[in-house]
Amino acid sequence: MTEFTQNAYAKINLSLDVLSKRADGYHNVSMVMHQVSLADTVTLRPLEQEGIQLTSDSAQIPHDEKNIAFQAAQLMLNRFGIHHGIHIHIHKEIPVAGGMAGGSTDAAAVICLLNQAFQLDLSKETLMSLALELGADVPYCIFARPALAEGIGENLTEICGLPPCKIVIVNPNIEISTKEIYEEIDQVHYVEKPNNHRLIELLKEQNLKEACVYMKNVMQPISIKKCPKIAEILQSLQSLGAIRAMMTGSGATCFGIFSCKSKLENVSALFPDCFVKITSPYWGGAD
Ligand code: ATP
Repeated sequence: MTEFTQNAYAKINLSLDVLSKRADGYHNVSMVMHQVSLADTVTLRPLEQEGIQLTSDSAQIPHDEKNIAFQAAQLMLNRFGIHHGIHIHIHKEIPVAGGMAGGSTDAAAVICLLNQAFQLDLSKETLMSLALELGADVPYCIFARPALAEGIGENLTEICGLPPCKIVIVNPNIEISTKEIYEEIDQVHYVEKPNNHRLIELLKEQNLKEACVYMKNVMQPISIKKCPKIAEILQSLQSLGAIRAMMTGSGATCFGIFSCKSKLENVSALFPDCFVKITSPYWGGAD
């Protein structure tokens, strides 16, 4: 039977602000999101008999209904009364629990692939509202363009993305619980706030150097307290000549933005115990 395959891109936060805690426990945020050329590959194969099967080359993620990509399939099959089974295979490249929306992007890919495989003909808006039932970051992964994300992350406005540059991703293989960071942020009375509005203006002008000045993640100081290794990585990226080095999401993945001309061939040697990848900005494909 036919197979359907899609790249599921990782995101970084060029800026992350937490605005307030809502009555339902979620937080209102303001985040400048960009995808990078680091992606899982999700392959979907319809089966004759009912049931969802999930395989992966990664032992770090669950292979059952705890996997958010599995949950995405359950949601779609139930909602649209599809009486086929499916097999999902996830080739994992994105560090797990690293603040790069690895699970969310796999789930988004499954939603899009099911729309394609079963010719559901659902609009991007409908796919995004289904995605929100799975998690706050999933609609963005379907949107898949540089964006300002507000509300709990689901309220998306397209913005001008980064100009061409190199983005070095460094993950120290340490998992940080996003939930714990949010709990701590609720206790902090003062945090220096990012100016996302100015950042977006500078991206529109394609002024990379100035834009970098306004990139800020309010979770970074809290995550550094839990994982001092983050500070070391950021220092090393800076010494290597990064225009900006910061953390994505609640960490512990860090990234450094470098000019296209930077010589980065030996960067992996600087971070022996880490996952290191030289990427570029991903601006989204054609609709
Ligand atoms: P975010 O940036 O959206 O906060 P993250 O990148 O920090 O997410 P994930 O990689 O999505 O975190 O992993 C978070 C948890 O979800 C892990 O404990 C992992 O085991 C679980 N998980 C479930 N499904 C997946 C999946 N398809 N890929 C990665 N992790 C998954």
